[in-house]
Amino acid sequence: RELPGDPRTDAIPREVLHACYTKVTPSAEVENPTLVAWSEKVAELLDLDPKEFERPDFPSIFSGALPLKGGLPYAQCYGGHQFGVWAGQLGDGRAITLGELLNSRGERWELQLKGAGKTPYSRFADGLAVLRSSIREFLCSEAMNGLGIPTTRALCLVTTGKLVSRDMFYDGNPKDEPGAIVCRVAQSFLRFGSYQIHASRGKEDLDIVRTLADYTIRHHFPHIEKMNKSDDLSFELGVEGSSVVDLTSNKYAAWSVEVAERTASLVASWQGVGFTHGVLNTDNMSVLGLTIDYGPFGFLDAFDPSYTPNTTDLPGRRYCFANQPDIGLWNVAQFTATLSAAQLISKEEANYAMERYGDKFMDEYQSIMTKKLGLSKYNKQLISTLLNNMAVDKVDYTNFFRLLSNVKADASTPKNKLLLPLKAALLDIGPERKEAWTSWVQTYIEELVSSGIPDDERKTVMNSVNPKYILRNYLCQSAIDVAEQGDYSELRRLLKLMERPYDEQPGMEKYARLPPAWAYRPGVCMLSCSS
Ligand code: AMP
Ligand code: MG
Ligand code: MG
Repeated sequence: RELPGDPRTDAIPREVLHACYTKVTPSAEVENPTLVAWSEKVAELLDLDPKEFERPDFPSIFSGALPLKGGLPYAQCYGGHQFGVWAGQLGDGRAITLGELLNSRGERWELQLKGAGKTPYSRFADGLAVLRSSIREFLCSEAMNGLGIPTTRALCLVTTGKLVSRDMFYDGNPKDEPGAIVCRVAQSFLRFGSYQIHASRGKEDLDIVRTLADYTIRHHFPHIEKMNKSDDLSFELGVEGSSVVDLTSNKYAAWSVEVAERTASLVASWQGVGFTHGVLNTDNMSVLGLTIDYGPFGFLDAFDPSYTPNTTDLPGRRYCFANQPDIGLWNVAQFTATLSAAQLISKEEANYAMERYGDKFMDEYQSIMTKKLGLSKYNKQLISTLLNNMAVDKVDYTNFFRLLSNVKADASTPKNKLLLPLKAALLDIGPERKEAWTSWVQTYIEELVSSGIPDDERKTVMNSVNPKYILRNYLCQSAIDVAEQGDYSELRRLLKLMERPYDEQPGMEKYARLPPAWAYRPGVCMLSCSS
Protein backbone atom coordinates (compact mmCIF):
# COMPACT_ATOMS: atom_id res chain seq x y z
CA ARG A 1 0.00 0.00 0.00
CA GLU A 2 1.18 3.50 -0.81
CA LEU A 3 2.19 5.85 1.93
CA PRO A 4 -0.46 8.54 2.04
CA GLY A 5 0.89 11.93 1.07
CA ASP A 6 4.38 10.60 0.43
CA PRO A 7 5.87 13.26 -1.85
CA ARG A 8 7.87 10.57 -3.65
CA THR A 9 4.74 8.81 -4.91
CA ASP A 10 2.22 11.60 -4.46
CA ALA A 11 1.29 12.32 -8.08
CA ILE A 12 2.73 9.36 -9.98
CA PRO A 13 -0.02 7.89 -12.16
CA ARG A 14 -0.78 4.39 -10.93
CA GLU A 15 -3.49 2.05 -9.77
CA VAL A 16 -4.29 2.93 -6.20
CA LEU A 17 -5.69 -0.17 -4.55
CA HIS A 18 -7.80 -0.44 -1.38
CA ALA A 19 -8.13 3.35 -1.02
CA CYS A 20 -10.86 5.93 -1.57
CA TYR A 21 -8.45 8.80 -2.03
CA THR A 22 -4.81 9.85 -2.09
CA LYS A 23 -3.32 12.87 -0.37
CA VAL A 24 -1.73 15.08 -3.00
CA THR A 25 -0.21 18.51 -3.35
CA PRO A 26 -1.65 20.69 -6.12
CA SER A 27 1.11 21.07 -8.67
CA ALA A 28 -0.32 23.11 -11.51
CA GLU A 29 2.34 25.28 -12.99
CA VAL A 30 1.34 28.79 -12.16
CA GLU A 31 3.13 31.88 -13.36
CA ASN A 32 0.88 34.80 -12.67
CA PRO A 33 -2.37 33.53 -11.17
CA THR A 34 -5.20 36.01 -11.66
CA LEU A 35 -8.71 35.93 -10.27
CA VAL A 36 -11.00 36.63 -13.22
CA ALA A 37 -14.47 35.90 -11.84
CA TRP A 38 -16.22 34.75 -8.71
CA SER A 39 -19.75 33.98 -7.66
CA GLU A 40 -21.29 36.16 -4.96
CA LYS A 41 -23.94 33.54 -4.37
CA VAL A 42 -21.38 30.84 -3.60
CA ALA A 43 -19.41 33.24 -1.41
CA GLU A 44 -22.61 33.76 0.60
CA LEU A 45 -23.08 30.02 0.90
CA LEU A 46 -19.60 29.77 2.40
CA ASP A 47 -19.92 32.91 4.57
CA LEU A 48 -17.00 34.40 2.66
CA ASP A 49 -16.65 38.14 3.01
CA PRO A 50 -16.36 39.77 -0.47
CA LYS A 51 -13.14 41.36 0.83
CA GLU A 52 -11.50 37.91 0.84
CA PHE A 53 -11.45 38.01 -2.95
CA GLU A 54 -9.25 41.10 -2.84
CA ARG A 55 -6.55 39.41 -0.77
CA PRO A 56 -3.31 39.41 -2.72
CA ASP A 57 -2.77 35.72 -1.94
CA PHE A 58 -6.28 34.68 -3.08
CA PRO A 59 -5.31 33.75 -6.68
CA SER A 60 -2.33 31.76 -5.42
CA ILE A 61 -4.44 29.80 -2.95
CA PHE A 62 -7.17 29.12 -5.49
CA SER A 63 -4.73 27.95 -8.10
CA GLY A 64 -3.08 25.61 -5.60
CA ALA A 65 0.21 27.51 -5.54
CA LEU A 66 -0.21 28.32 -1.84
CA PRO A 67 -1.85 25.98 0.65
CA LEU A 68 -5.27 26.76 2.09
CA LYS A 69 -4.86 27.11 5.82
CA GLY A 70 -6.42 24.14 7.57
CA GLY A 71 -6.85 22.26 4.31
CA LEU A 72 -5.97 18.63 3.64
CA PRO A 73 -5.67 18.28 -0.11
CA TYR A 74 -6.53 14.92 -1.67
CA ALA A 75 -7.70 13.39 -4.94
CA GLN A 76 -10.55 10.89 -5.05
CA CYS A 77 -10.28 7.39 -6.44
CA TYR A 78 -13.14 6.34 -8.68
CA GLY A 79 -13.92 4.28 -11.74
CA GLY A 80 -16.76 4.26 -14.16
CA HIS A 81 -18.54 2.92 -17.17
CA GLN A 82 -17.59 5.08 -20.12
CA PHE A 83 -19.99 4.86 -23.06
CA GLY A 84 -21.40 1.66 -21.64
CA VAL A 85 -18.07 -0.09 -21.10
CA TRP A 86 -16.37 -0.63 -17.74
CA ALA A 87 -13.20 1.50 -17.87
CA GLY A 88 -11.58 0.77 -14.49
CA GLN A 89 -9.84 3.42 -12.41
CA LEU A 90 -10.38 6.87 -13.93
CA GLY A 91 -10.39 9.52 -11.40
CA ASP A 92 -9.90 11.93 -10.12
CA GLY A 93 -7.23 12.88 -12.56
CA ARG A 94 -7.53 16.62 -12.27
CA ALA A 95 -9.71 17.58 -9.35
CA ILE A 96 -8.04 18.10 -5.98
CA THR A 97 -10.12 18.65 -2.88
CA LEU A 98 -8.66 21.38 -0.69
CA GLY A 99 -10.79 20.61 2.31
CA GLU A 100 -14.21 21.16 3.80
CA LEU A 101 -15.74 24.28 5.22
CA LEU A 102 -18.47 24.38 7.84
CA ASN A 103 -20.72 27.45 7.41
CA SER A 104 -22.75 29.28 10.05
CA ARG A 105 -25.81 27.19 9.18
CA GLY A 106 -23.88 24.04 10.02
CA GLU A 107 -23.62 22.99 6.36
CA ARG A 108 -20.44 21.30 5.25
CA TRP A 109 -19.08 22.31 1.85
CA GLU A 110 -16.21 20.68 0.01
CA LEU A 111 -13.89 22.93 -2.00
CA GLN A 112 -12.20 21.39 -4.98
CA LEU A 113 -9.77 22.76 -7.56
CA LYS A 114 -10.26 21.45 -11.08
CA GLY A 115 -7.13 21.66 -13.20
CA ALA A 116 -4.54 22.03 -10.42
CA GLY A 117 -2.13 19.40 -11.72
CA LYS A 118 -1.45 15.69 -11.80
CA THR A 119 -2.67 13.16 -9.29
CA PRO A 120 -2.16 9.38 -9.14
CA TYR A 121 -5.36 9.16 -11.19
CA SER A 122 -4.24 11.32 -14.11
CA ARG A 123 -3.41 8.31 -16.33
CA PHE A 124 -1.91 9.66 -19.58
CA ALA A 125 -3.17 13.23 -19.12
CA ASP A 126 -1.74 16.41 -17.61
CA GLY A 127 -4.17 17.18 -14.78
CA LEU A 128 -4.71 20.66 -16.17
CA ALA A 129 -7.65 22.58 -17.57
CA VAL A 130 -7.89 25.31 -20.17
CA LEU A 131 -9.71 28.62 -19.91
CA ARG A 132 -12.31 27.61 -22.50
CA SER A 133 -13.57 24.57 -20.61
CA SER A 134 -13.17 26.27 -17.22
CA ILE A 135 -15.39 29.16 -18.32
CA ARG A 136 -18.00 26.66 -19.45
CA GLU A 137 -17.92 24.82 -16.11
CA PHE A 138 -17.92 28.04 -14.09
CA LEU A 139 -20.81 29.63 -15.97
CA CYS A 140 -22.96 26.55 -16.34
CA SER A 141 -22.66 25.52 -12.68
CA GLU A 142 -24.12 28.87 -11.67
CA ALA A 143 -26.61 28.96 -14.58
CA MET A 144 -28.00 25.58 -13.52
CA ASN A 145 -28.35 26.82 -9.97
CA GLY A 146 -30.18 29.87 -11.29
CA LEU A 147 -32.56 27.54 -13.11
CA GLY A 148 -33.23 25.77 -9.82
CA ILE A 149 -31.56 22.53 -10.90
CA PRO A 150 -29.35 20.66 -8.41
CA THR A 151 -25.72 21.13 -9.32
CA THR A 152 -22.19 21.39 -8.03
CA ARG A 153 -21.32 25.08 -7.67
CA ALA A 154 -18.40 27.23 -8.75
CA LEU A 155 -16.79 29.69 -6.36
CA CYS A 156 -14.21 31.26 -8.62
CA LEU A 157 -12.19 31.11 -11.77
CA VAL A 158 -8.47 31.79 -11.80
CA THR A 159 -6.17 31.92 -14.82
CA THR A 160 -2.72 30.42 -14.23
CA GLY A 161 -0.69 32.59 -16.60
CA LYS A 162 0.68 29.42 -18.24
CA LEU A 163 -0.27 27.84 -21.54
CA VAL A 164 -1.68 24.32 -21.83
CA SER A 165 -1.49 22.29 -25.01
CA ARG A 166 -4.66 20.70 -26.30
CA ASP A 167 -4.82 18.60 -29.43
CA MET A 168 -8.40 17.54 -29.95
CA PHE A 169 -9.28 20.20 -32.46
CA TYR A 170 -11.23 19.48 -35.58
CA ASP A 171 -8.19 20.28 -37.76
CA GLY A 172 -6.06 17.82 -35.79
CA ASN A 173 -3.42 20.39 -34.82
CA PRO A 174 -2.49 20.92 -31.18
CA LYS A 175 -3.09 24.39 -29.87
CA ASP A 176 -1.74 26.23 -26.84
CA GLU A 177 -4.49 27.66 -24.71
CA PRO A 178 -4.50 29.70 -21.49
CA GLY A 179 -4.59 27.48 -18.39
CA ALA A 180 -7.28 28.05 -15.76
CA ILE A 181 -8.63 26.54 -12.56
CA VAL A 182 -12.19 26.49 -11.27
CA CYS A 183 -12.89 26.09 -7.58
CA ARG A 184 -15.92 23.82 -7.44
CA VAL A 185 -18.08 23.54 -4.35
CA ALA A 186 -20.49 20.80 -3.34
CA GLN A 187 -21.59 18.95 -0.24
CA SER A 188 -19.98 15.93 -1.82
CA PHE A 189 -18.39 14.98 -5.12
CA LEU A 190 -19.00 11.25 -4.61
CA ARG A 191 -20.15 9.54 -7.79
CA PHE A 192 -21.60 6.15 -8.72
CA GLY A 193 -18.08 5.29 -9.86
CA SER A 194 -16.71 6.00 -6.35
CA TYR A 195 -18.46 2.81 -5.16
CA GLN A 196 -18.13 0.85 -8.39
CA ILE A 197 -14.33 0.94 -8.37
CA HIS A 198 -14.09 -1.01 -5.10
CA ALA A 199 -16.72 -3.59 -6.03
CA SER A 200 -14.86 -4.12 -9.31
CA ARG A 201 -11.70 -5.08 -7.43
CA GLY A 202 -13.25 -8.19 -6.00
CA LYS A 203 -14.05 -9.70 -2.66
CA GLU A 204 -11.21 -8.12 -0.79
CA ASP A 205 -12.50 -4.59 -1.39
CA LEU A 206 -16.21 -5.16 -0.85
CA ASP A 207 -15.89 -3.96 2.73
CA ILE A 208 -14.70 -0.61 1.33
CA VAL A 209 -18.01 -0.28 -0.52
CA ARG A 210 -19.78 -0.76 2.81
CA THR A 211 -17.52 1.69 4.65
CA LEU A 212 -18.02 4.33 1.98
CA ALA A 213 -21.78 3.71 1.91
CA ASP A 214 -21.90 4.07 5.70
CA TYR A 215 -19.93 7.30 5.48
CA THR A 216 -22.22 8.65 2.76
CA ILE A 217 -25.41 7.80 4.63
CA ARG A 218 -24.12 9.21 7.90
CA HIS A 219 -23.00 12.51 6.41
CA HIS A 220 -25.32 13.07 3.47
CA PHE A 221 -28.47 11.04 4.15
CA PRO A 222 -28.74 11.29 7.95
CA HIS A 223 -32.55 10.98 7.83
CA ILE A 224 -32.08 7.39 6.60
CA GLU A 225 -29.83 6.49 9.49
CA LYS A 226 -32.35 7.91 11.92
CA MET A 227 -35.14 5.73 10.66
CA ASN A 228 -36.34 3.19 13.09
CA LYS A 229 -38.51 0.17 12.73
CA SER A 230 -40.79 1.36 15.48
CA ASP A 231 -41.88 4.44 13.59
CA ASP A 232 -42.27 2.71 10.28
CA LEU A 233 -45.55 4.47 9.58
CA SER A 234 -43.55 7.22 7.93
CA PHE A 235 -41.62 4.82 5.73
CA GLU A 236 -42.33 3.19 2.53
CA LEU A 237 -43.29 -0.39 1.86
CA GLY A 238 -42.61 -1.19 -1.76
CA VAL A 239 -44.04 -4.14 -3.60
CA GLU A 240 -41.79 -5.74 -6.16
CA GLY A 241 -43.32 -8.80 -7.84
CA SER A 242 -44.51 -11.03 -5.06
CA SER A 243 -41.89 -10.03 -2.51
CA VAL A 244 -42.28 -7.01 -0.32
CA VAL A 245 -39.37 -4.60 -0.04
CA ASP A 246 -39.25 -3.10 3.41
CA LEU A 247 -37.11 0.03 3.30
CA THR A 248 -37.13 0.38 7.06
CA SER A 249 -35.16 -2.81 7.61
CA ASN A 250 -32.20 -2.05 5.38
CA LYS A 251 -30.68 1.43 5.29
CA TYR A 252 -28.73 0.61 2.12
CA ALA A 253 -31.96 -0.25 0.32
CA ALA A 254 -33.55 3.01 1.47
CA TRP A 255 -30.43 4.82 0.32
CA SER A 256 -30.40 3.17 -3.11
CA VAL A 257 -34.05 4.18 -3.59
CA GLU A 258 -33.25 7.77 -2.67
CA VAL A 259 -30.29 7.89 -5.03
CA ALA A 260 -32.50 6.47 -7.80
CA GLU A 261 -35.23 9.01 -7.11
CA ARG A 262 -32.89 11.98 -6.92
CA THR A 263 -31.33 10.91 -10.21
CA ALA A 264 -34.76 10.61 -11.80
CA SER A 265 -35.82 14.12 -10.66
CA LEU A 266 -32.53 15.54 -11.87
CA VAL A 267 -32.90 14.06 -15.35
CA ALA A 268 -36.53 15.23 -15.54
CA SER A 269 -35.43 18.78 -14.73
CA TRP A 270 -32.79 18.60 -17.47
CA GLN A 271 -35.45 17.56 -19.99
CA GLY A 272 -37.55 20.50 -18.89
CA VAL A 273 -34.96 23.12 -19.81
CA GLY A 274 -33.37 21.29 -22.75
CA PHE A 275 -30.06 20.58 -21.01
CA THR A 276 -27.96 17.79 -22.50
CA HIS A 277 -25.09 16.71 -20.24
CA GLY A 278 -23.05 15.16 -23.04
CA VAL A 279 -21.08 12.53 -21.05
CA LEU A 280 -23.37 10.57 -18.77
CA ASN A 281 -20.76 8.02 -17.80
CA THR A 282 -21.24 6.51 -14.35
CA ASP A 283 -18.26 8.52 -13.08
CA ASN A 284 -20.24 11.65 -13.91
CA MET A 285 -23.29 10.64 -11.86
CA SER A 286 -23.43 12.32 -8.46
CA VAL A 287 -24.70 10.19 -5.63
CA LEU A 288 -26.42 13.32 -4.29
CA GLY A 289 -28.33 13.81 -7.54
CA LEU A 290 -26.38 16.89 -8.60
CA THR A 291 -25.43 17.87 -12.12
CA ILE A 292 -21.69 17.21 -12.07
CA ASP A 293 -18.77 17.56 -14.50
CA TYR A 294 -19.52 20.14 -17.10
CA GLY A 295 -17.73 19.16 -20.30
CA PRO A 296 -19.34 18.93 -23.72
CA PHE A 297 -22.81 19.89 -22.46
CA GLY A 298 -25.31 21.92 -24.43
CA PHE A 299 -28.75 23.46 -24.15
CA LEU A 300 -31.17 22.86 -26.98
CA ASP A 301 -31.67 25.72 -29.37
CA ALA A 302 -33.99 24.23 -32.02
CA PHE A 303 -35.86 21.28 -30.54
CA ASP A 304 -34.10 18.10 -31.65
CA PRO A 305 -34.46 14.88 -29.66
CA SER A 306 -31.22 13.54 -31.15
CA TYR A 307 -29.21 16.63 -30.15
CA THR A 308 -25.69 15.45 -29.20
CA PRO A 309 -23.34 18.27 -28.19
CA ASN A 310 -20.42 15.88 -27.60
CA THR A 311 -18.68 15.17 -30.91
CA THR A 312 -16.94 12.16 -29.28
CA ASP A 313 -20.43 10.64 -29.04
CA LEU A 314 -21.06 10.70 -32.79
CA PRO A 315 -22.40 8.86 -34.65
CA GLY A 316 -23.71 6.65 -31.81
CA ARG A 317 -25.53 9.45 -29.92
CA ARG A 318 -25.68 7.37 -26.73
CA TYR A 319 -25.98 10.55 -24.67
CA CYS A 320 -28.28 12.57 -26.93
CA PHE A 321 -31.03 14.70 -25.36
CA ALA A 322 -33.83 12.14 -25.71
CA ASN A 323 -31.73 9.24 -24.35
CA GLN A 324 -30.95 10.88 -21.01
CA PRO A 325 -33.90 9.35 -19.11
CA ASP A 326 -32.95 5.80 -20.22
CA ILE A 327 -29.28 6.41 -19.56
CA GLY A 328 -30.12 7.61 -16.05
CA LEU A 329 -31.79 4.26 -15.43
CA TRP A 330 -28.89 2.34 -16.97
CA ASN A 331 -26.54 4.17 -14.62
CA VAL A 332 -28.76 3.55 -11.59
CA ALA A 333 -28.72 -0.14 -12.56
CA GLN A 334 -24.91 -0.11 -12.41
CA PHE A 335 -25.06 1.57 -9.03
CA THR A 336 -27.55 -0.90 -7.55
CA ALA A 337 -25.56 -3.78 -9.06
CA THR A 338 -22.56 -2.46 -7.13
CA LEU A 339 -24.50 -2.44 -3.87
CA SER A 340 -25.79 -5.95 -4.61
CA ALA A 341 -22.29 -7.20 -5.32
CA ALA A 342 -21.23 -5.85 -1.94
CA GLN A 343 -24.22 -7.67 -0.43
CA LEU A 344 -25.67 -4.45 0.89
CA ILE A 345 -28.98 -4.86 -0.94
CA SER A 346 -30.84 -7.84 -2.37
CA LYS A 347 -31.81 -8.35 -6.02
CA GLU A 348 -35.40 -7.43 -5.10
CA GLU A 349 -34.27 -4.24 -3.44
CA ALA A 350 -32.13 -3.37 -6.46
CA ASN A 351 -35.09 -3.95 -8.75
CA TYR A 352 -37.29 -1.87 -6.53
CA ALA A 353 -34.87 1.08 -6.71
CA MET A 354 -34.93 0.88 -10.51
CA GLU A 355 -38.69 0.71 -10.51
CA ARG A 356 -38.78 3.83 -8.33
CA TYR A 357 -36.50 5.57 -10.83
CA GLY A 358 -39.07 4.98 -13.57
CA ASP A 359 -42.03 6.09 -11.48
CA LYS A 360 -40.28 9.16 -10.12
CA PHE A 361 -39.06 10.19 -13.55
CA MET A 362 -42.56 9.96 -15.05
CA ASP A 363 -44.13 11.87 -12.14
CA GLU A 364 -41.60 14.67 -12.32
CA TYR A 365 -41.44 14.87 -16.09
CA GLN A 366 -45.20 15.01 -16.44
CA SER A 367 -45.46 17.64 -13.76
CA ILE A 368 -42.76 19.79 -15.40
CA MET A 369 -44.31 19.53 -18.87
CA THR A 370 -47.77 20.27 -17.46
CA LYS A 371 -46.38 23.45 -15.88
CA LYS A 372 -44.49 24.39 -19.03
CA LEU A 373 -47.82 24.40 -20.87
CA GLY A 374 -49.67 26.03 -17.98
CA LEU A 375 -52.21 23.22 -17.75
CA SER A 376 -53.99 21.88 -14.69
CA LYS A 377 -53.47 18.24 -15.64
CA TYR A 378 -51.08 16.22 -17.77
CA ASN A 379 -52.18 15.82 -21.39
CA LYS A 380 -49.97 13.28 -23.13
CA GLN A 381 -51.44 13.72 -26.60
CA LEU A 382 -51.19 17.51 -26.56
CA ILE A 383 -47.57 17.43 -25.40
CA SER A 384 -46.39 14.77 -27.82
CA THR A 385 -48.05 16.51 -30.78
CA LEU A 386 -46.36 19.75 -29.74
CA LEU A 387 -42.91 18.17 -29.40
CA ASN A 388 -43.38 16.46 -32.72
CA ASN A 389 -44.32 19.75 -34.40
CA MET A 390 -41.34 21.46 -32.77
CA ALA A 391 -38.96 18.78 -34.02
CA VAL A 392 -40.34 18.94 -37.57
CA ASP A 393 -40.04 22.73 -37.73
CA LYS A 394 -36.86 23.04 -35.63
CA VAL A 395 -38.56 25.45 -33.25
CA ASP A 396 -36.47 27.01 -30.49
CA TYR A 397 -37.22 25.11 -27.27
CA THR A 398 -36.66 28.02 -24.87
CA ASN A 399 -38.23 30.87 -26.79
CA PHE A 400 -41.30 28.87 -27.82
CA PHE A 401 -42.31 27.99 -24.26
CA ARG A 402 -41.60 31.50 -23.05
CA LEU A 403 -43.92 32.91 -25.73
CA LEU A 404 -46.57 30.28 -25.12
CA SER A 405 -47.68 32.06 -21.95
CA ASN A 406 -49.00 34.87 -24.18
CA VAL A 407 -51.73 32.64 -25.62
CA LYS A 408 -55.08 33.60 -24.09
CA ALA A 409 -57.72 31.15 -22.92
CA ASP A 410 -60.20 32.59 -25.40
CA ALA A 411 -62.19 30.06 -27.44
CA SER A 412 -63.47 32.80 -29.73
CA THR A 413 -60.00 33.69 -31.10
CA PRO A 414 -60.40 33.78 -34.91
CA LYS A 415 -58.51 31.03 -36.70
CA ASN A 416 -56.25 33.45 -38.59
CA LYS A 417 -55.16 35.05 -35.30
CA LEU A 418 -54.29 31.84 -33.45
CA LEU A 419 -50.56 31.86 -34.27
CA LEU A 420 -50.04 35.57 -33.60
CA PRO A 421 -48.72 35.26 -30.01
CA LEU A 422 -46.22 32.61 -31.17
CA LYS A 423 -45.15 34.41 -34.32
CA ALA A 424 -41.62 35.18 -33.16
CA ALA A 425 -40.92 31.49 -32.54
CA LEU A 426 -42.60 30.23 -35.71
CA LEU A 427 -41.13 32.60 -38.29
CA ASP A 428 -39.52 29.85 -40.33
CA ILE A 429 -42.43 27.49 -40.74
CA GLY A 430 -43.58 26.92 -44.31
CA PRO A 431 -47.18 27.55 -45.41
CA GLU A 432 -47.78 23.78 -45.56
CA ARG A 433 -47.07 23.56 -41.82
CA LYS A 434 -49.43 26.32 -40.76
CA GLU A 435 -52.42 24.03 -40.47
CA ALA A 436 -50.61 21.62 -38.13
CA TRP A 437 -49.72 24.50 -35.81
CA THR A 438 -53.08 26.20 -36.00
CA SER A 439 -54.84 23.00 -35.10
CA TRP A 440 -52.47 22.41 -32.19
CA VAL A 441 -53.06 25.92 -30.81
CA GLN A 442 -56.82 25.40 -31.18
CA THR A 443 -56.70 22.23 -29.08
CA TYR A 444 -54.37 23.95 -26.62
CA ILE A 445 -56.81 26.83 -26.14
CA GLU A 446 -59.67 24.37 -25.53
CA GLU A 447 -57.54 22.75 -22.84
CA LEU A 448 -56.73 26.16 -21.30
CA VAL A 449 -60.40 27.09 -21.23
CA SER A 450 -61.34 23.84 -19.52
CA SER A 451 -58.55 24.28 -16.95
CA GLY A 452 -60.23 27.47 -15.73
CA ILE A 453 -56.89 29.03 -14.72
CA PRO A 454 -56.92 32.82 -15.26
CA ASP A 455 -54.50 34.04 -17.97
CA ASP A 456 -52.27 36.11 -15.69
CA GLU A 457 -52.03 33.39 -13.07
CA ARG A 458 -51.08 30.86 -15.72
CA LYS A 459 -48.46 33.18 -17.16
CA THR A 460 -46.79 33.52 -13.76
CA VAL A 461 -46.59 29.75 -13.30
CA MET A 462 -45.33 29.20 -16.85
CA ASN A 463 -42.67 31.90 -16.59
CA SER A 464 -41.39 30.31 -13.41
CA VAL A 465 -40.50 27.11 -15.30
CA ASN A 466 -39.86 28.43 -18.82
CA PRO A 467 -36.64 30.43 -18.66
CA LYS A 468 -36.18 33.54 -20.75
CA TYR A 469 -32.39 33.14 -20.71
CA ILE A 470 -30.38 29.95 -21.02
CA LEU A 471 -26.67 29.46 -21.42
CA ARG A 472 -26.70 28.75 -25.13
CA ASN A 473 -23.42 27.46 -26.55
CA TYR A 474 -22.87 30.55 -28.64
CA LEU A 475 -23.18 32.79 -25.57
CA CYS A 476 -20.51 30.77 -23.79
CA GLN A 477 -18.37 30.91 -26.89
CA SER A 478 -18.65 34.71 -27.16
CA ALA A 479 -17.51 35.05 -23.55
CA ILE A 480 -14.64 32.62 -24.21
CA ASP A 481 -13.48 34.44 -27.36
CA VAL A 482 -13.04 37.76 -25.57
CA ALA A 483 -11.73 36.17 -22.35
CA GLU A 484 -8.93 34.57 -24.35
CA GLN A 485 -8.00 38.16 -25.30
CA GLY A 486 -7.98 39.15 -21.62
CA ASP A 487 -11.46 40.70 -21.48
CA TYR A 488 -13.61 39.06 -18.80
CA SER A 489 -16.52 41.50 -18.90
CA GLU A 490 -18.77 39.27 -21.00
CA LEU A 491 -18.14 36.33 -18.69
CA ARG A 492 -19.14 38.41 -15.67
CA ARG A 493 -22.19 39.77 -17.49
CA LEU A 494 -23.37 36.25 -18.34
CA LEU A 495 -22.85 35.11 -14.76
CA LYS A 496 -25.14 37.90 -13.48
CA LEU A 497 -27.72 37.33 -16.22
CA MET A 498 -27.93 33.59 -15.64
CA GLU A 499 -28.48 34.03 -11.91
CA ARG A 500 -32.05 35.12 -12.74
CA PRO A 501 -33.00 33.26 -15.91
CA TYR A 502 -36.75 33.41 -15.31
CA ASP A 503 -36.84 37.20 -14.91
CA GLU A 504 -37.37 39.66 -17.71
CA GLN A 505 -34.18 41.71 -17.59
CA PRO A 506 -34.66 44.95 -19.50
CA GLY A 507 -31.79 45.75 -21.85
CA MET A 508 -30.63 42.12 -21.91
CA GLU A 509 -33.07 40.84 -24.55
CA LYS A 510 -30.33 40.18 -27.08
CA TYR A 511 -29.15 37.32 -24.84
CA ALA A 512 -32.40 35.49 -25.57
CA ARG A 513 -31.74 35.48 -29.30
CA LEU A 514 -31.18 32.41 -31.46
CA PRO A 515 -27.62 31.48 -32.36
CA PRO A 516 -26.14 33.75 -35.03
CA ALA A 517 -24.83 32.32 -38.32
CA TRP A 518 -21.23 32.17 -37.08
CA ALA A 519 -22.18 29.65 -34.40
CA TYR A 520 -22.97 27.08 -37.10
CA ARG A 521 -19.65 27.35 -38.92
CA PRO A 522 -17.60 24.13 -38.84
CA GLY A 523 -15.33 23.95 -35.82
CA VAL A 524 -17.02 26.77 -33.93
CA CYS A 525 -18.72 25.62 -30.73
CA MET A 526 -17.49 22.05 -31.30
CA LEU A 527 -17.18 20.17 -28.05
CA SER A 528 -15.64 16.89 -27.05
CA CYS A 529 -14.84 14.83 -23.96
CA SER A 530 -12.13 15.95 -21.57
CA SER A 531 -11.46 19.27 -23.20
P1 AMP B 1 -14.62 13.05 -18.17
O1 AMP B 1 -15.03 12.22 -19.34
O2 AMP B 1 -14.35 14.47 -18.53
O3 AMP B 1 -15.57 12.93 -17.03
O4 AMP B 1 -13.20 12.49 -17.70
C1 AMP B 1 -13.02 11.26 -17.09
C2 AMP B 1 -11.86 11.33 -16.14
O5 AMP B 1 -10.67 11.61 -16.84
C3 AMP B 1 -12.00 12.44 -15.12
O6 AMP B 1 -12.62 11.99 -13.98
C4 AMP B 1 -10.59 12.84 -14.83
O7 AMP B 1 -10.11 12.12 -13.73
C5 AMP B 1 -9.83 12.41 -16.05
N1 AMP B 1 -9.36 13.58 -16.81
C6 AMP B 1 -10.02 14.33 -17.71
N2 AMP B 1 -9.24 15.30 -18.19
C7 AMP B 1 -8.04 15.18 -17.59
C8 AMP B 1 -6.80 15.88 -17.64
N3 AMP B 1 -6.60 16.92 -18.44
N4 AMP B 1 -5.81 15.44 -16.84
C9 AMP B 1 -5.97 14.39 -16.03
N5 AMP B 1 -7.08 13.69 -15.93
C10 AMP B 1 -8.12 14.07 -16.70
MG1 MG C 1 -15.87 13.39 -15.17
MG1 MG D 1 -14.79 16.26 -17.57
